[in-house]
Amino acid sequence: MLINLSDVFKEQGKVMKVTTPVEMNAFRLGQKYEIIEKNDFEWTLTNIEPGRAKVEGKGRISFKAPCDRCLSDVKVDLDLAPERFVVPPEKQSDEDEEVDDLSFLEGYELNTETLLYNELMENWPAKILCKEDCKGLCPVCGRNLNEGECGCDRFVPDPRLAGIQDLFKRMKEV
Ligand SMILES: [Zn+2]
Ligand SMILES: [Zn+2]
Repeated sequence: MLINLSDVFKEQGKVMKVTTPVEMNAFRLGQKYEIIEKNDFEWTLTNIEPGRAKVEGKGRISFKAPCDRCLSDVKVDLDLAPERFVVPPEKQSDEDEEVDDLSFLEGYELNTETLLYNELMENWPAKILCKEDCKGLCPVCGRNLNEGECGCDRFVPDPRLAGIQDLFKRMKEV
């Protein structure tokens, strides 16, 4: 959706409230994540001073993503609250202006999809787990270990444990 910001740039004290649907159905970041739930986004556009405005959005998008350990589907809810300061095109080359990345502006129009995409990139979780203590897949037979033991010999010394053992050794030496 495009929202025209001309009035918000011009009129002092102007506040505009706009609700827009989310048009995208998936998000691509290395792989494609399907959107399974989304609500409309509420935008508040506020004039800060002539030629400068603040864009605030609020909404939730839910994705289907594989668990990093066991690959089962996880619902990832992302509550997004983008906040950006924007200036009209004629001020964008002004080096004195402190402005955010304005790739979501198309002339005087705000492209809500581009802004949401940028916001998703910034807020995408570094780790996606089906549960905090997900046991993952057996590296030998591939069984989902959350569903039970497979009996494979998977012994690999845990590097963290090795560190603790070193520490104990050093403590004894002292
Ligand atoms: Zn998992
Ligand atoms: Zn196994």
